Amino acid sequence: MQNFVFDKLNFLTAGMPLSTGKASYNRAFEILNELNLDGMELEFVHGVRMSEETRRLVKQERENKNLILTAHAPFYVNLNSKEEDKVEASVQRIIETGLAANDTGAFSITFHAAFYMQQDKEEVFNKVKTRVSEISEYFHKNNINVWIRPETTGKGTQWGDLEEIVRLSKEFDNVLPCIDFSHLHARSAGAYNTYDEFAQILETVGKELGQKALENFHAHLAGIDYGAKGEKKHLILEESDMNYKDLLKAFKEFGVKGALVCESPNIEDDAVLLKEYYKSI
Ligand SMILES: [Zn+2]
Repeated sequence: MQNFVFDKLNFLTAGMPLSTGKASYNRAFEILNELNLDGMELEFVHGVRMSEETRRLVKQERENKNLILTAHAPFYVNLNSKEEDKVEASVQRIIETGLAANDTGAFSITFHAAFYMQQDKEEVFNKVKTRVSEISEYFHKNNINVWIRPETTGKGTQWGDLEEIVRLSKEFDNVLPCIDFSHLHARSAGAYNTYDEFAQILETVGKELGQKALENFHAHLAGIDYGAKGEKKHLILEESDMNYKDLLKAFKEFGVKGALVCESPNIEDDAVLLKEYYKSI
């Protein structure tokens, strides 16, 4: 599948810039232009609620202002829930996110796929795969030309380490990873934070999923606080130990193109910091 061809790495905010205040998408997009940022991840984390009118407006403004969009599905997703109705609702939430992405011109959606629920990892993989297969087929049948991206998760209780996400992506032609580098760092309680480790991730993705995966990337980054159980909370980059400089060097070295979404609490400030540093390399 190919819905967007990228010529560079784009820097996006996770949701509207803070300085948007109570204003709407129009103003948010203006601010992105003013800050020389490249786009936004639409945050449907508490539910996919966006009117038809807003979808049209966002699509039009995205085109007018030449922005890149992605979307984040609701947090209430667990494709491995023991309750069937919850699994079905989770599938539905991911599909609704895909429909909203398609309507607004977002190229990729991401979601936290499942919890292990203390079950055998192989069993959980197969359950997630079955559900993602339904979603993948639905997207094909309904011409939803949007990448489906399970995200690398931040806690050991959540399904989705790098290997699982890459392995799942190999099974479907419209599935690729969303690599949250802060989650990988937190989940491993401090690893994945050197140039060599970042390079290793990019090498794995390129080798297993092809160059297209590196030229059509969807990643998340923020400062992060973590402990033995993984992610605690997001931090401002400079107030954390997240080695964003070496990550950006690795991106440049590997020719990564696509979207890097900044999820720091000071959203646009860190997005600008990342873009400025990347340009200086
Ligand atoms: Zn996420």
